[in-house]
Amino acid sequence: MRTRPAPWGLLLLAFLPILLPPAVGAQELPLFDAHIHYSREAWERYPPGEIIRLMDRAGIRRALVSSTPDEGTWRLHTEAPERVVPLLRLYREAGDSSGWHRDASLLEVLERELGRRAYRGVGEVHLEAGDAEAPVVDRAVRLAVQRGLPVQVHTGEEGMQALLVRYPRARFLWAHSGLGSPAAAARRLLEGHPNLWVELSLRYDVAPGGSLDPEWRGLFLAFPDRFLVGTDTWIVSRWESLEETARFNRGWLRQLPVEVGEKIAWRNGEALFPPAP
Ligand SMILES: [Zn+2]
Repeated sequence: MRTRPAPWGLLLLAFLPILLPPAVGAQELPLFDAHIHYSREAWERYPPGEIIRLMDRAGIRRALVSSTPDEGTWRLHTEAPERVVPLLRLYREAGDSSGWHRDASLLEVLERELGRRAYRGVGEVHLEAGDAEAPVVDRAVRLAVQRGLPVQVHTGEEGMQALLVRYPRARFLWAHSGLGSPAAAARRLLEGHPNLWVELSLRYDVAPGGSLDPEWRGLFLAFPDRFLVGTDTWIVSRWESLEETARFNRGWLRQLPVEVGEKIAWRNGEALFPPAP
C-alpha cells in the first residue's frame, strides 16, 4: 500500500506570506497627494479617523490639505499631524471661491491666521486671468513669500503666467495643470519659470485608458522634479473613489523610469514640503 505524500508543499505555501518580506516595488509605491480637501460636507460621513484609514488603503503617505472652512484641515491635522500638510485657504463657504480676492476683510484674516497656526502653504485658491494684481491676492502672495510658503492656485495658463511674472520670488503649485489647459501649456510655463511646480489631480488625459500619453511622458522626462500627483476630494463622493484614483496614478507612474515615477509619486512633494522638524 502506498502512503500519501505528506502535504509539505501545501504547508509551505500557507506560511509563505510570513516567510517572505512584504513586496516592495511599484505595487507599494507610496504617494504624496498634492490635492486633498476635507470640507464641511465630508465631516459627518467621514470622521478624521476614517479619512486616515482611506488614505492608508490608497497608499497616500502625506497630503496637502486645504478645506472650506479651514477648520476641516485642522481636524484632520489633529488626527495625524505627520501626514497632513496644512494650507491656508481663506474660504468660509464653498461660494467664496469666486469672490475671495475682492473681499478686503480677508487681508486681516490672512495675517492673523498665518501668524497663529503652522501653515505650510497658501491655497488652493481660485483665480481668473485678470486677478493677479487684486490687493488680497497681492498681500497673500507677498506674505507667503516672506514666510517661504508655496501658493497653490487653480487658474488657466494666462492667469498662471500673470502670477509668475508679477511674483518671481514666489513658489507656485499649479492646480490640475490648469485643468482645461493642454500639456503644451505646462511645458511653456515650466520652461520660462523655475518657481513653478505642476500638480496633476483630475488630469485623466495624462493616461487615457490607463496608458501614459506620449506628450505628457516627454514632459515628465524633461521636468522630473516639477510634477506632483493629486486626488482632489472637492466633493464627498471623491473620498469613495480615493483608492481608485490612487490606482490610476500608480498605473501611469509605473510606465515611467522608476526614478522619475518615484519623484512624481512622492519625492517632489517631500522636497517641496519637508516634514516638520
Ligand atoms: Zn481643489
